[in-house]
Amino acid sequence: MSVAIFGGTFNPVHNGHLRIAIELAELLEVDSLRMIPCALPAHRDVPSASPQQRLEMLKLGIGEQAQRLLADDIELCREGPSYTIDTLREIRQQIGSQTPLFLCVGMDVLTTLDSWQDWQQLTDYCHLIVSSRPGYQIPKSGPLADWIRQRLCDDLHELKQSSTGRLHFCNLTMLAISSTAIRNKVSAGEKIDYLTPAAVVNCIQQQHLYE
Ligand code: ATP
Repeated sequence: MSVAIFGGTFNPVHNGHLRIAIELAELLEVDSLRMIPCALPAHRDVPSASPQQRLEMLKLGIGEQAQRLLADDIELCREGPSYTIDTLREIRQQIGSQTPLFLCVGMDVLTTLDSWQDWQQLTDYCHLIVSSRPGYQIPKSGPLADWIRQRLCDDLHELKQSSTGRLHFCNLTMLAISSTAIRNKVSAGEKIDYLTPAAVVNCIQQQHLYE
């Protein structure tokens, strides 16, 4: 058994997130990939949709067919900024020390990882799985680049044999969709069909989000 987590603001969730989540679940051969909306992002403005609205859209987006994907409210149950390190510590307590735990992020996230709370300790609790994203490069020099190099593991099979400590890059399907583009379209009165599942489109319309 192993567990993967994929965090984000999910404001709103879109087909880029869902496609990558399914591919990650298959690649990592996990029983469940937990998609975790942050309550209060530590490094960006307060999202226009509330944590509950973003969680609701995430559940609607995942739907019932994607059995391996789960919407996890773990960060909504905590006060204050949502630090990933706190989430990892909590999940580690739940699953014990032997179960492999994968933290999945896009390359855009990796490039700013050194601004995260206790970032150097992240791999004490998990492996880091990084999917490339157009327009973002692996940091080439500095403390973050050194940290990445020390943990790099090209062989996913080898990485799966341990529960924490390594970093792996993968090339998965990155659809050119972002939550920002969806919010901008809604506020401009444009349609967002097929950028996010129909149930999410309906929810945005019914609750007049992003207008
Ligand atoms: P925003 O436009 O508001 O910044 P976003 O679309 O980048 O949002 P986030 O919720 O910030 O979405 O991202 C959560 C995670 O999903 C990050 O690890 C990010 O790299 C990844 N991600 C975002 N968009 C895509 C996409 N189109 N394909 C694959 N992964 C994505």
